[in-house]
Amino acid sequence: MDSVSLTLGEARDLALRCLLHNGCDQDNAAAAADRMIEAEADHCHSHGLFRLPWYVGGVRSGRVNGAARPSVEQLAPGVIRVDGDGGFAPLGQRVAHGPLVECARAQGIAALGFVNMFHIAALWPEVEALANEGLCAFAFTASYPYVAPAGGKRPLFGTNPMGFGWPRPGGTPMVFDQASSAMARGEIQIAARDGKSVPETAGIGPDGETTTDPEVVLAGAQLGFGGYKGATLAMMVELLAGPLIGDFLSVESEQDDAGRGGPPKGGELLIAMDPARFGDEQGFLAHGERLFEAILEQDGTRLPGQRRHESRAVTAREGIRIPRSLYVEIEALLA
Ligand code: NDP
Repeated sequence: MDSVSLTLGEARDLALRCLLHNGCDQDNAAAAADRMIEAEADHCHSHGLFRLPWYVGGVRSGRVNGAARPSVEQLAPGVIRVDGDGGFAPLGQRVAHGPLVECARAQGIAALGFVNMFHIAALWPEVEALANEGLCAFAFTASYPYVAPAGGKRPLFGTNPMGFGWPRPGGTPMVFDQASSAMARGEIQIAARDGKSVPETAGIGPDGETTTDPEVVLAGAQLGFGGYKGATLAMMVELLAGPLIGDFLSVESEQDDAGRGGPPKGGELLIAMDPARFGDEQGFLAHGERLFEAILEQDGTRLPGQRRHESRAVTAREGIRIPRSLYVEIEALLA
């Protein structure tokens, strides 16, 4: 692949300039650029600079508020709502972190509903940040209808990821973050872009037949991971990130976009628990480590998040490579 090498600083500067040039103010552009570069740094390309043209399209169309000022509201002792003011999610997430940590420590458990925001991306940054504070955390979000319900042929659920973080003594927390679909949408789009095939479990074409052609899956419907079990989790995530917090289902988000093809508007539910308040303040960390040690004793295992953290160390030294076609596209957005 013809590619361009960038340091993380250069990549951030490119994203920042592009967002500023296309209608975001400094706070919104910086938060979104930081989030994209965190994804690039961890080799999660489908949430990195690949998304920048999509973001720019959202602001240029006037649909996304590039000067959003998210607001925080305490709805109940353990429930917070953050209204993203129609901007991109990263600034709202930045604003929400402190109040959620404070509330979880005070209450033992706290939930935060993000509403009125565009494109909640990968979930690991939120849960990792909470686990770095010593909290145990969950995150859920929906998007656009891409995944068929079990037995169905038409997309209804988002690829609806779930993130989970657990603190570890003196090290990076254990974090997993996964779609409830067999493949993340962005990975299928990248396979289509790069002319690669996808596994048969990824989805079905408009005719309902399985296929390995990513273009046909994109035109048809994705499938949940593990058959109906992934689909039930996708349904749960729809309910938690939509009706529970007063934001869109994936189908409603698509209707709201009205064919403009911009990033999805929707919500995210975060739940943070302070393990120190659950009865084993002195022992929970060591107890959790016993489980991780037992996993790692077995050949062939690793902890979720390990690949990302290893990638982070590599990209800090060596920078990143992005496809030249993407670089050219971004440069054009700066013209
Ligand atoms: P993956 O299937 O690549 O990975 C899922 C999780 O499993 C990761 O935490 C990963 O850790 C871990 N893992 C992978 N292999 C192993 C292994 N052998 N042993 C132990 N753990 C392992 O993720 P997805 O493709 O499902 O999702 C990719 C990203 O896309 C996520 O960040 C998700 O939030 C995002 N997404 C966002 C959506 C949205 O609408 N906003 C929709 C769908 C997905 P590691 O990272 O270290 O490999």
